[in-house]
Amino acid sequence: EPNADGSWSITGTKIFISAGEHDLSDNIIHLVLAKTPGAPDSVKGISLFTVPKFIVNDDGSLGARNAVTCGAIEHKMGIHANATCVMNYNGATGYMLGEEMKGLAAMFIMMNAARLGVGIQGLAQADAAYQNAVEYAKGRLQGRSLTGAKNPEGKADPIIVHPDVRRMLMDARSYTEGMRALMLWGAIRVDLSRKATDAAEREMADDLISLLTPVIKGYGTDRGYEVATNCQQVLGGHGYIAEWGMDQFVRDARIAMIYEGTNGIQALDLVGRKLGSKGGRGTQAWLGLVAGDIAAATDERLAFIAGPLSRALGDVQAGVMWLLQNGMANPDNAGAGATAFMRMMGHVALGHMWLKMSGAALAAFDAGTGDADFFNAKLMTARFFAARVLPETASLKSQLEAGADTVMAMPAEMF
Ligand SMILES: Cc1cc2nc3c(=O)[nH]c(=O)nc-3n(C[C@H](O)[C@H](O)[C@H](O)COP(=O)(O)OP(=O)(O)OC[C@H]3O[C@@H](n4cnc5c(N)ncnc54)[C@H](O)[C@@H]3O)c2cc1C
Repeated sequence: EPNADGSWSITGTKIFISAGEHDLSDNIIHLVLAKTPGAPDSVKGISLFTVPKFIVNDDGSLGARNAVTCGAIEHKMGIHANATCVMNYNGATGYMLGEEMKGLAAMFIMMNAARLGVGIQGLAQADAAYQNAVEYAKGRLQGRSLTGAKNPEGKADPIIVHPDVRRMLMDARSYTEGMRALMLWGAIRVDLSRKATDAAEREMADDLISLLTPVIKGYGTDRGYEVATNCQQVLGGHGYIAEWGMDQFVRDARIAMIYEGTNGIQALDLVGRKLGSKGGRGTQAWLGLVAGDIAAATDERLAFIAGPLSRALGDVQAGVMWLLQNGMANPDNAGAGATAFMRMMGHVALGHMWLKMSGAALAAFDAGTGDADFFNAKLMTARFFAARVLPETASLKSQLEAGADTVMAMPAEMF
C-alpha cells in the first residue's frame, strides 16, 4: 500500500530467508518482492522494495525498529552458521527500488550475481573436502599396493597408493582446478561487460557470462557436491563420523544445488532461455571461442586434450542442434534433457580451461620459468580430465537424444 510520504507499507510473509535476522551487523536491508494494489496476479505485477530492519534517518543514523520480524528459524541439514528465517512483514515501511511492476527484472541483477556466488560455494566446499581427503589418504595405512608394497617397513601402504582412491582424488583435483579457472574466466567476463572501452566487447562479455551463469551455478554445484561426497568416501568410516568434519562439507555443499533456483531450474534456464537468447548469439560466440582455441592448439604436445575436447565440443554442438529440432516440437524433450545438456556443457567449459592451462604450462616449461612441479601437476591433471571426464559427453548426448518418451510414459497415478 502506498504511504503519503512516498514510502510503501508492506504486509506478508517470506520463508527461507538466509540471514533474515541476526545481530552481526547494525542493520539489515531486506530486498522484498511484493505486489502493489491492482497489479496483475502474475510475475508481471511484481515490484521490488527495500525494507530496513531499522528505519534509516536522513542523517544516516538508525531510527525506529521497522515492523519486520523473524517468526521462526528453520532446522536444517547444513549451513548452520546461517539463520534461515521465516520473516513477517506487518505494515513494514519499504521503499520501491526501480520501477513499479519491473521488480523481477531488477531482482535478477542480484540473482545473477548470487548464482555466480553460489557456484563459488560449490567449488569452495569441494576444495576444502579435497584438501582434507588428500591429507588423510597420505596418512592412513590400509592394504597393499596392487603393484607391490610402497611402504615395506610399515604394516600397510598409505591408501593414496590405491587406484580407486586416486580416482576420487584426481577427479576432485581436476574439478576444483578447472572450476577455479572457469570462475576466474567468468569474473573477467563480468569486468569486461562493465568496463571494456569497446561497446562490442562489453556486449560479447555480457553474452558469454549470461550463457555460462546457469552452468557455473548448476554444473559447479552438482559437481561440487559429488566431489565433496567422494572426498568423504576417501576417509572410509571416519568420513561418516562427525569428528572428522567431512560430513559438514557434504551437508553444506548440498544446499548450493537447491537455493538461488534449483539446478533443475538452472538447466531449464540454460536450454529454454540462454541458448536461444538474442538469436543464439552468445551460444555461437562461446562455441566459436572453444573451437577457435582448439584449432589454435597446433602444438602436438596438446593433442592429448585438444582431441577429446574437440569430440566433446562436437557432442555439445550436436546437442544444441538436437534441442533446436526437437525441443520446439515437444518442449518436454528439452525439459527431459536439460540436466544432461548442462553437464555436457560444463565438462566442455572445464575442458576449455584445461586446454588453456595446459598451453600455459607448456609455455612456462619452454621459457624455463616458474615452478616445474606446479606446471607438471597441471599437465597430469589435465590428462586425467581429458581421458576420464570429457568422454562422458558421449553418454550424456545419448541421454539427451533419448528425448522425453521414456521419462514421461508412466502416468502420474502409477507412481
Ligand atoms: C537454506 C535455504 C536458504 C534459502 N535462502 C533464501 C533467501 O535468502 N531468499 C530467498 O528468496 N529464497 C531463499 N531460499 C529459497 C530457495 O531459493 C528455494 O527453496 C529454491 O529456489 C527452490 O524453490 P522451492 O523450494 O519453491 O522448490 P520447488 O519450486 O517447489 O521445486 C521442487 C522441485 O521441483 C522442481 N521444479 C519446480 N518447478 C519446476 C519446473 N518448472 N520445471 C522443472 N522442475 C521444476 C525443482 O527443480 C525441485 O526439484 C532458501 C532455501 C533454503 C532451503
